[in-house]
Amino acid sequence: MESPHLCQPDSGKSCGACCGLYNYRGANRSDLVRRLKRRTDAFRNLERYTNEALRSFTAWVRRTEPQGKLLETIYNCEFLGFLDPQCRKVGCLLHPRQHDGKDLRGCSFYGAELCDGHLCLSYQKLTRTEKWAAILSLDDWYLYGICITDIDLCKGFFHMAAERIGAEPSLAVLSRPGVQEALRNFFALKVSWPYRSDDDGRFGKYCLAEDEYREARIPYEEIGCSKSRYDTIFLSLASDFSSVEEIREAERLIALRIDDFVRSCEGPDGPNRA
Ligand code: SF4
Ligand code: SF4
Repeated sequence: MESPHLCQPDSGKSCGACCGLYNYRGANRSDLVRRLKRRTDAFRNLERYTNEALRSFTAWVRRTEPQGKLLETIYNCEFLGFLDPQCRKVGCLLHPRQHDGKDLRGCSFYGAELCDGHLCLSYQKLTRTEKWAAILSLDDWYLYGICITDIDLCKGFFHMAAERIGAEPSLAVLSRPGVQEALRNFFALKVSWPYRSDDDGRFGKYCLAEDEYREARIPYEEIGCSKSRYDTIFLSLASDFSSVEEIREAERLIALRIDDFVRSCEGPDGPNRA
């Protein structure tokens, strides 16, 4: 099983998290679509991509887009946009592939060298199975980018699943439609989780405020129970519980997704056969 490219894995989706995609306070999917579409249209309408034109474009984006950031120290690049007319792929509008081989990223905040050399921690930390699981099951850039950069979410899920299956599923198993559907149903909790905190400074397990962040914790003792075995997943889902009943129901929801996945991995000749 080869290790895949996480940033632009295929023609149906991509990630732009390290270019600041999710670093807008309170932004949901439709806010981001509006923002990226507007700046992509303006970029494509530039007559020429001279340094001066790109500097003016940067200034126009800063002047006319809402700038409320989750974390001040992460730069939200003005040149992140949609690469295709269908708006299925987010990516760099200055990338050489967009300009017949000419690299315009020198005009960006980070510059061409930094942009070109950057690979986030997911490349190192996720196993090939975890990477392929997200790539094969997700076809939406918004959800894909949030999940592929959430190392705890992926590891938390596969850790619990592996305890049941006994081994990591093969690529052939991950390619089955039923397995992909079960994975998609789990990853979709990132946007549909009923116990998600309504604090707009919360991003996964992090509580963000201007130039600081800290890891959230669930106050099990204060709520009246012991730490849940799903704690890692709960934190990644930005959970905020107010009662033991809520925690038990949340555990049931996660257990159901894991059960579905484990069942879907069982092939005709037994568990996890290709
Ligand atoms: S956050 Fe990681 S996967 Fe996403 S674009 Fe950056 S390097 Fe690629
Ligand atoms: S210039 Fe760099 S930071 Fe900006 S969108 Fe391109 S790759 Fe991302």
